[in-house]
Amino acid sequence: MKIDLRSDTVTLPTAGMRAAMEAAELGDDVYGEDATVNKLEAKVADMFGRDAALFCPTGTMTNQLAIRVHAQPGDEVICDKLAHIYLYEGGGIALNAFASVRPLDGNLGRITAEMVEQNINNPHDVHQPITKLVSLENTVNKGGGSIYDFEEIKRIKAVCKNRGLILHLDGARLFNALVETEQTPKDYGKEFDSISICLSKGLGCPVGSVLIGSHELVHKARRFRKVMGGGWRQAGALAAAGIYALDNHVDRLKDDHRKAKDIAEMLTRNSHVKGCYPVATNIIMAELRDAMDAASFVSKMKENDIHCVAFDKYLVRFVTHLDITDQHLQLLADKLKF
Ligand SMILES: *Cc1c(COP(=O)(O)O)cnc(C)c1O
Repeated sequence: MKIDLRSDTVTLPTAGMRAAMEAAELGDDVYGEDATVNKLEAKVADMFGRDAALFCPTGTMTNQLAIRVHAQPGDEVICDKLAHIYLYEGGGIALNAFASVRPLDGNLGRITAEMVEQNINNPHDVHQPITKLVSLENTVNKGGGSIYDFEEIKRIKAVCKNRGLILHLDGARLFNALVETEQTPKDYGKEFDSISICLSKGLGCPVGSVLIGSHELVHKARRFRKVMGGGWRQAGALAAAGIYALDNHVDRLKDDHRKAKDIAEMLTRNSHVKGCYPVATNIIMAELRDAMDAASFVSKMKENDIHCVAFDKYLVRFVTHLDITDQHLQLLADKLKF
């Protein structure tokens, strides 16, 4: 039995999702005529209490479009050193927006208002890039699915407002944070100038991310998306999967979180595991002892058809998702005894 814990992107659409995709009303989205894409964009904008939204193929694209719209060449983006926009988007901040990055040393990928305040350049000093944008990630992938304290987000927003900075959220796994906290999408819509969410992670869609913000932001992003070659046509079947996921797959994320805690417990008992990062959502980061590095651990697991990812020399990542069952966990408990 294959147990694929490499990522929450490996899920296959459920029967209900496939039926919704099959039934979707379609049209040419570049002409604004795909009724289902329009419905998804309106639904998400409404959920977050914002003007508009833009459906895109990937979270890399929604993040990069936001940064491209917000930053001018020579501007600087503040983020944590573990941020996906900095580490895993192919240098897109430099390539697409010609902007530089100020990576900060936060706590499991989370920065504070104080850190932001201390890293804003003097706009009158010609030596320094112009600080323009602060980007937060919630939950933090490389932080082991850590959740931001919403009070800290509000403090960061206050600094941004005070200092004329724009605030973006990489919310690839925002719904994982939302089911564990008391905030709503609208609370996030109020604090951020732009938000990117992924439908293809824990929500279980085959493809899709959404960028949320003002009419102006979405209008500009739509233009850049076309330039990047991301103007798609009858994308409604994918949008239908997104609508289905938002209606049916949000509350169940708690189940993924419970399973992640179980897996962390099993891992802690493994003789090669030094410990795990605190498990807040659906990601488990296991730190290994010197005797076995992450690559060897991953290949040992693979012998049992169990799949995980080496994230650093001694760091292994496991991610729970829609297709992981309690039966998988029983087998895993057995296979982790070494
Ligand atoms: C997955 C992910 C993205 C987007 O990735 P794509 O594969 O381009 O959809 C962005 N940010 C974070 C934190 C992610 O985990």
